[in-house]
Parts: sequence; structure tokens; C-alpha cells
Amino acid sequence: MNAHRPWKIITRRKSRQIMVGNVAVGGDAPISVQSMTNTLTADAAATIAQIQRMEAVGVDIARCSCPDEESTAALKEIVKSVNVPIVADIHFHYKRGIEAAEAGAACLRINPGNIGAPDRVAEIVRAAKDHNCSIRIGVNAGSLEQELLEKYGEPCPEAMVESAMAHARILEDHDFFNFKISVKASDVFLAIAAYRGLAKACDYPLHVGVTEAGGLRTGTVKSSVGMGLLLAEGIGDTIRVSLSAEPEEEVRVGYEILKSLGLRSRGVTVVSCPTCARKRYDVIKTVQLLEERLAHITTPLTVSVIGCVVNGPGEARETDIGVTGGGNGKHMVYLSGLTDHTVEDADMVDHIVKLVEAKAAELEAADVAKAAIAAE
Ligand code: SF4
Repeated sequence: MNAHRPWKIITRRKSRQIMVGNVAVGGDAPISVQSMTNTLTADAAATIAQIQRMEAVGVDIARCSCPDEESTAALKEIVKSVNVPIVADIHFHYKRGIEAAEAGAACLRINPGNIGAPDRVAEIVRAAKDHNCSIRIGVNAGSLEQELLEKYGEPCPEAMVESAMAHARILEDHDFFNFKISVKASDVFLAIAAYRGLAKACDYPLHVGVTEAGGLRTGTVKSSVGMGLLLAEGIGDTIRVSLSAEPEEEVRVGYEILKSLGLRSRGVTVVSCPTCARKRYDVIKTVQLLEERLAHITTPLTVSVIGCVVNGPGEARETDIGVTGGGNGKHMVYLSGLTDHTVEDADMVDHIVKLVEAKAAELEAADVAKAAIAAE
């Protein structure tokens, strides 16, 4: 698609592919978007409801903390009641890992080096193999092993890569290769350098994130800068945006990061101008209303909402549906980049919503027809 725009091409790092339930991670699989529940996992009903809200905005993989037996007991019902694969987040307690694998978790987030005795590691790996469960090694700058802190003096990229590779070797020694790795830090420079080092050191799929990034606004900016740089270099097979906000927001932001780099597409992407004295209608209000009313569309579509003719026609040329502010309360509507008709100010939002819904239905029908032909 971008063959004639080489400056838009991202060459993804070649990684091996693993399965997290029915979601492929790594290789040529689409970069998946993850999030994590913040309910008590033991409260299955609340956790299921939250995962369903995450599913509604497109989450590919959901993670639940399993700090106690009540949590792993609830996991069985959770796994049965949702459509996306579940990652069980385990710290230290190897028994929780075994219980989670038995309960149907698709992946365990566990660092084998933290489990202790080798026979415990062997048990976890056996449970993962028996239940077709992958593993994520999750190194965090804030919880590096004491000996690495002593060796390097402070958390640094080299220490994080060394930690990750030591955990990886433990799994490899058990003939287990079905895992992905993360090396997260809340410092953007540290996270980027660690991921770059790890990307060179192995070909395992990488789960990318900037940890403890902050609230919705600050965390979104920090994650976009850190993850955006890595993703633009082709590093990253699955992502989690870490925000002090509801998980649905993490999913939305994750998609927007991927969409802005052309790595995934989902739903309506609105291109809009910041407005100025030349604007011919209330662009800010229009964009706000359109984003709310078009949130249910999952088909990838672009809509430009521009205040005047300075940038309107140019942006409309690149979008499926465009509107540009014109005189006397009448605005120009563009379809597939071409001028088509005008719309009155008062009718504009309803009109654009109808156009987008019709276009989405048309594209969906075309996809269904294509799939039917391919299946013949
Ligand atoms: Fe102003 Fe027009 Fe530019 Fe929008 S497109 S910022 S209204 S000049």
C-alpha cells in the first residue's frame, strides 16, 4: 500500500511467532493490543464485565492479576465467559501459575528466575506445556535482581537485557520456547534502550510498554513517545499502554498509537484542523460529536473535518469522507476525495454520521463478498 511512499514503510523486526490462545504474537501477525483488568480477579462477575467493556473497544488480549487462590479459582469462569485470551499475572507464587494454566489461562506472566527451586520451575513449565499456555517474561526496571543492581550500580539497559536473557535461558533449558519478553521502565530513555538491546539479543516476540506512564493525558504522551519510537523502528509485537485510567482507555490509546503509524487500522480516524479565525463552523464541537457518535464503527475509515478551504480540499483528497467549511452556513462534502454536494450547518453531524455508517456497511459487504469468493 505504501510502495510509492517509502517514507511511510516500517520494516518490522523479524521475530518468531507464538500463540497466546487464538492470538498470534510475533512474526507477521498484526501487533496486538493488550490491557489489564483493575477489578479483583476473585470477583469474576466484575472482571468479566470489565473485560467485555475492553472487548467492545477492540482489546486483543486481557491480563488479570492472580495474587491468591481465590483469583485463580475465578479464572476458570472468566476464561469461559470472555472472547479474548487471558494472561494470568503471577509474581513469585509458582502454585498460582500452575492453577492459572489449569484454569485455562492462555499465557502466564511470570519470571522463572523468581520462582526459586528448579523443581518448581520444572512444574510451571510442565503445566504451561500441558495446557498449551505461553509465558511472558516481564522484566521491570523497578524490580531488577539485587545482583544485577550491584553489578551495574543502578537499573540500566544492559542490566535489564541481562535479566531478561537469564530468565529466557531458564525456559530454554526446559525446552520451552513459547514465550515473549518485555523490559519495561517508566523512564522513556531507559525503556527504549532496553528494548533496542533486547531486540538485538534475541528473536523472541516483544511485548512493548512504558510502565507506570501516568494519568490519561501524561501517560498517553509518554507512551506514545516511547512506544512510538520503538514501533517506528519495527520493534514490538504486542503492546500495552499503562495508564492510571480505566483499561478501555488503554485500549483506545494503544490503537491510536498503532493507527498513527499505519500498523493497525480500526474504526474511524478523524483528521481535523485546530481551527482559527477562518473557520466557517464549530469544528471542535463537530469533531467531539462525531467521535462519540461514530465510536461503534469498527471498519477502518477516514473522515476529514476541516474549518475552511485553506486545508479542506487537500485533506479531503486523502480521506473517505470529508467536510470543508464554506460560506453562508453551507459546507462542501467530499466523497472519496472528490467534491460531491453541500450540507447545511444544522444538518452536518447527522449527515456525516449517515454517510460514514453507509460507507462502513458498503465496505463490510465488499469484504464478505471477497471472503465468499476466496472460499469457493
Ligand atoms: Fe484555520 Fe482553515 Fe486552517 Fe482550519 S483549515 S486551522 S479554519 S485556516
